[in-house]
Amino acid sequence: MKKQSKNPLLLIKFLTLHSLLVLSASQDFDFFYLVQQWPGSYCDTKHGCCYPSTGKPVSDFGIHGLWPNRNDGSYPSNCDSSNPFDASKISDLVSQMRSDWPTLSCPSNDGLTFWGHEWDKHGTCSESVLDQHSYFSTALNLKTEINILRALEDAGIHPNGSNYSLSSIKDAIKRASGHTPWIECNNDSSGNSQLYQIYLCVDSSGLGFIECPVFPNGKCGASIEFPMF
Ligand code: 5GP
Ligand code: 5GP
Repeated sequence: MKKQSKNPLLLIKFLTLHSLLVLSASQDFDFFYLVQQWPGSYCDTKHGCCYPSTGKPVSDFGIHGLWPNRNDGSYPSNCDSSNPFDASKISDLVSQMRSDWPTLSCPSNDGLTFWGHEWDKHGTCSESVLDQHSYFSTALNLKTEINILRALEDAGIHPNGSNYSLSSIKDAIKRASGHTPWIECNNDSSGNSQLYQIYLCVDSSGLGFIECPVFPNGKCGASIEFPMF
């Protein structure tokens, strides 16, 4: 007859190890970056841009993505090819996606390529927390909680081609939102540093903004242009 293990300690050890493995397999990240782009700075570059087939986006920051990230600065990507983007799952969100998550890449398209890329690369790495519909609706809801353009305009920072300091931009967003953002700059076709993307951190359930556990890398010039769009 097979000998049964009677050691309760062994069983507890096994169960602990098992639950740790299940947990780490299902959630391999610590927080999200909600990344928003200034369309004028995406377009005002060497590569240029194309407006979506549905028309020129409004003059506002647009969502780039909701990106799972780890506290050590690394991040998972393309986590589950068995769960590819399925546009039919977000048909109720498409009109809000067109205004709040417009694509500017060429050739012109309706945005499905951009949204599909974001789901496949980033969304599948947080699918244990947010399924496809919740992934997109969570990002849309978070964007409406903090109005970045209004925060900047209230501080006298306008998208009219003027230049501003990095600290004035960060202070304006921090004052309005209560959270410290990260600013990513890119260069216009003449090489000037301009305000490209704003990063805000979100807890690992997607429920609300937090202070960032870690910031990305990258430099902005001493004077940052905020181009028109
Ligand atoms: P990431 O890989 O950084 O999450 O997303 C960047 C990818 O999305 C690139 O392949 C880019 O071509 C595509 N993309 C499509 N539309 C946009 C857009 O409006 N802005 C940016 N930054 N990338 C876009
Ligand atoms: P500190 O932590 O002393 O404010 O900044 C350290 C360095 O990181 C400085 O060179 C500063 O310009 C840069 N830095 C601080 N915040 C940001 C930001 O949000 N975006 C970018 N690109 N650089 C930043």
